[in-house]
Amino acid sequence: MNQEEVRRIFEKKGALLRGHFRLSSGRHSDIYMQCALVLQYPELSSKLCEELAKKFSGKSIETVIGPAIGGIIVSYEVARQLSVRSLFMERKEGIMTLRRGFHIEKGEKILLVEDVITTGKSLKEVEEIVKKRGGEIAGIGCLVDRSEGKSPFGRGITSLLSLKASTWEASLCPLCKKGMPISTPGTRFCSH
Ligand SMILES: [Zn+2]
Repeated sequence: MNQEEVRRIFEKKGALLRGHFRLSSGRHSDIYMQCALVLQYPELSSKLCEELAKKFSGKSIETVIGPAIGGIIVSYEVARQLSVRSLFMERKEGIMTLRRGFHIEKGEKILLVEDVITTGKSLKEVEEIVKKRGGEIAGIGCLVDRSEGKSPFGRGITSLLSLKASTWEASLCPLCKKGMPISTPGTRFCSH
């Protein structure tokens, strides 16, 4: 599956729209991205995660882990394809934590995954906890990479689709200057 095919899946399900959008942060953007609109279809989740898992098939991976909520489905599906364990971390009072009795062995080779990486902040927190618990990072993967190499992982991210998305302070938005109508996807908008 090439980037174009992946892009078509996202566009077809309305998970990727181009236009002029007001983000929950107040910034304006030229892309609307809501990965859950693709991942709501188990068949598509499975297909995409199979493609992602293939990219790590030659590596020795013992466990896959992702941050809740977006990372849970991706972690589960990629782990299923690789026949390994799937874990997730979640925020408790704002702090990323490994809960629910999940454990990480010393030296365990762990693949970090996300649905969409933009700043990479959550995944970085997951990485730090994995390392603190003695785990080894075996790779970093996501379905859609919007970081443009600017996340803490640099160019070390394996993705199915790289997207260039611009965001601006409302007052500096070139789309506003052009007089382009804006939409506010509101609570349907994901945090990415
Ligand atoms: Zn604007």
